[in-house]
Amino acid sequence: MVQNLAELELGELEQALEAMGRPRFNARQLYRWVHRRGVTDFGAMTDLALELRGELAETFSVTTPEVVRTDVSSDGTAKFLLKLADAMLIESVFIPDTPSMTFCVSTQVGCAMQCAFCLTGKMGFGRNLTAGEIAGQVHVLARELGMFEKPFNIVLMGMGEPLHNYDATMKALRILHDPHGLSMSPRRMTLSTVGVLPALERLASEPLMPNLAISLHATTEETRDRLVPVNRKYNLEDLLNACRRFPLKKRSRITFEYVMLAGVNDSPTDARRLVKLMHGIRSKINLLPLNEAVGIDFRRPEDARVNEFARILAESGLTVSVRKSRGRDIRAACGQLITETQGRSAAQKLASAMTA
Ligand code: SAH
Repeated sequence: MVQNLAELELGELEQALEAMGRPRFNARQLYRWVHRRGVTDFGAMTDLALELRGELAETFSVTTPEVVRTDVSSDGTAKFLLKLADAMLIESVFIPDTPSMTFCVSTQVGCAMQCAFCLTGKMGFGRNLTAGEIAGQVHVLARELGMFEKPFNIVLMGMGEPLHNYDATMKALRILHDPHGLSMSPRRMTLSTVGVLPALERLASEPLMPNLAISLHATTEETRDRLVPVNRKYNLEDLLNACRRFPLKKRSRITFEYVMLAGVNDSPTDARRLVKLMHGIRSKINLLPLNEAVGIDFRRPEDARVNEFARILAESGLTVSVRKSRGRDIRAACGQLITETQGRSAAQKLASAMTA
C-alpha cells in the first residue's frame, strides 16, 4: 500500500528514507515541502533529485483533505467543508482578527460527548481523525488563504473531543511544531476539552504543551451532569482538582469556557459559585452566550443577564471575556459545526449505525 507521508513526523520520515538508502537531509527537504509549503506533488519538489522524486511517487503519497465548499460570512469568518480520503466530511473555520488570525480545527468526525446544547454532538460519533488529517486542515486553510508565511493561532474547537483522540491530536501538534515544518509555537495552539480526566493527566506530562481550555458550562454536579454527560464519569470536583494540579507555564492560565443558557446556568448565584470554584486556579473565563440552532432545546440569555454574570466575576477579580459570536450567518459559530452537505440524513444514518 502507498504510505501517506502527511501522517509522518520528521523522525518517522527520516527512518522511511533511510530504509530507501537516502540521507536525513532528504527527509528534511521533503518535510519542508509538505509541511511548510503545503506541496503534495513530488514532481514540484525541485530541490530533490529527479530520480528520488520518481521513487518517492512509487512509495508514498501526500494526501490532505480536499476542499468541497467554502462559505464566507459577512464578518470575514470562513467555513471550509473538507472531504477526507474515505469521503467522510469535516469542517474547519477561519476566524480573522480576534485579534490574531485563528484556525478552528476538528479532531473527530462528529463527537461522542453529546453535550446537550451542541449540534456536533447530535450527529453522533463517526471516527477519529488521523494526525495527518488534523494537521492537514491547517495546511489546507493556510494554502487556501495564502497564509503559510503569516502568523496564526489554532484552536482545537471544531468537531470532536481532542482528548478522546489523544495520540493523533498530540502527534498533529508535534507535526505543526516541528522547526522543519510550520514551526508553530505551542503558545499559538489551544486544546479545548470537556475534561476526559485520564487523558488530561497524561497531557500534564507532555513535552509539547498547548494552551488549555476547559469546557466547564456549569457550577453544580447536577447541572453539569445534564449539560456535559461525561461529567457523570469524570465529575466537576475531580476536574477542577486536576486543573489545580496542572503544570502551567509562566504567565499562562487555563481558560474556562462557559456556554450561557437562559434559566439553566446564567443566574447571579451561578456566577458567585463559579468564583468559588475558580479558587486556587490561574484562570480566565470565556463566556459563550449560546448560539441557538434548530434542534437545540435551549435559549440564549438576554445581553443584560450575560453582562450581570460577567460583572460579578470581574468584581471578584477574575479575568472574564464574552465571546462575540462569529460566522453565525454561515453556521460556522461554536457548536454549529455539522456538515450540512451530508445533511440530516447522513447524521441520522450515522446515529442509527452507532446504535445498530
Ligand atoms: N470538545 C471540545 C471542543 C468543542 S467545541 C470541547 O468541548 O471543549 C468548542 C466550544 O464550543 C466548547 O466549549 C463547546 O461547549 C462550545 N459550544 C458547543 N455548542 C455551542 C453552542 N451551541 N453555542 C455556543 N458554544 C457552543
